[in-house]
This record gives sequence, C-alpha cells and structure tokens, in this order.
Amino acid sequence: MEQGDIVADPDGHRATTVEQGRFCMARCTCGWRGPARRARSLARTDAEGHVVGGRPDHLRQND
Ligand SMILES: [Zn+2]
Repeated sequence: MEQGDIVADPDGHRATTVEQGRFCMARCTCGWRGPARRARSLARTDAEGHVVGGRPDHLRQND
C-alpha cells in the first residue's frame, strides 16, 4: 500500500499526500486539507507549505 509523502513538524502536524480519483491532495492530522492537484509533487508542496509555515493561528497549540 502506498502511503504518500509525510511532512511532520515538532508541533505534531503530519501532512501526507493522498490520492483521490485522478487527483492528489495534501492532508494533515490537524484536519487541514490542501486543494486537489494533478501532480503529487504539487500536493507535496502544499503539505510542506502547511507544515513549515503559513498555518492558521487557530491551529497553533503551543503559544
Ligand atoms: Zn496541520
């Protein structure tokens, strides 16, 4: 079974890429989902963008 890429950060976000039909999207353990992409590489970029930076303040738990 293919897992997809995982991007994790110290705050506990673990983003993976999941395939949905012909598309691929990023999904995180916090409930966030990225837009549907035609390429996994783009979905992975979305995942990295979510985990590394730009996540909404309401998702921050350590402040
Ligand atoms: Zn997240």
